[in-house]
Amino acid sequence: MKVIAVANQKGGVGKTTTAVNLSAALSELEKRVLLIDIDPQGNATMGSGVEKNQLSLSSYEWLVEGAGLNEVVRTAEVKYDVLPSNIDLTAAEVGLLGMDRREYVMRGLLKGAAYDYVLIDCPPSLNILTVNALTAANSVLIPMQCEYYALEGLSALLETIKALRASSNPHLDIEGLLRTMYDPRISLSRDVSRQLVTHFGEKLFRTVIPRNIKLAEAPSHGLPVIEYDRSSKGSRAYMALGAELLKRQGGFSSQLL
Ligand code: ATP
Ligand code: MG
Repeated sequence: MKVIAVANQKGGVGKTTTAVNLSAALSELEKRVLLIDIDPQGNATMGSGVEKNQLSLSSYEWLVEGAGLNEVVRTAEVKYDVLPSNIDLTAAEVGLLGMDRREYVMRGLLKGAAYDYVLIDCPPSLNILTVNALTAANSVLIPMQCEYYALEGLSALLETIKALRASSNPHLDIEGLLRTMYDPRISLSRDVSRQLVTHFGEKLFRTVIPRNIKLAEAPSHGLPVIEYDRSSKGSRAYMALGAELLKRQGGFSSQLL
């Protein structure tokens, strides 16, 4: 099982879009996938067709109140499993802060889970929930827009990763940086993209996610883009990302590459 945290404390960079659509792509590629929503906004939950305001159990009960993974996970709406969240999760910060070894809670709860991939959609902050995700994770996938301030925000995240390597998660790897909402007509985007290539080399996914309206529309239908509009550019890009990720793990997918 590989656990990947999708994180960037900068808001609106495409974390949730990536977590949802990469989960869908990997399950399409025959992997057993769990998507964990640890953002109280519940966007990944809604984007996976689960109504966040009608949850009997959510990631809050899982993290803080001892509810079992199998009790909380939803299996019906999409091809991957979803551990949903809603605004109740804001109380988890306080709940976790009172616990012993509070950054290790999620790691402990994921032990023995039967998935090939667990993707965690993190909130836009470096709070205790994100620290839990980064401690439970084997790697972190960092979506970013190719704009000037993107690089500035990145250093705070890289510092956090470094700090966690020195404390709770020595083996935390960077799965890759992902360029999102890319528009090649904007020269600044091209420049920043080039800088990223120079700076991060192999750590940058070769797949680039274009700005595509279908990616923005799909969540309002509670569907990953692969199910909403399979032939769209956004859908093809996330399928390519799934294939690239598997190829990097040595799980080469002959179906797509
Ligand atoms: P937050 O920090 O609030 O959790 P986020 O990093 O999870 O945000 P998303 O919610 O995935 O970011 O994306 C922000 C907005 O941009 C959403 O409205 C989403 O639909 C839209 N969006 C994301 N990626 C794309 C894309 N490639 N093309 C067009 N729209 C996109
Ligand atoms: Mg989000």
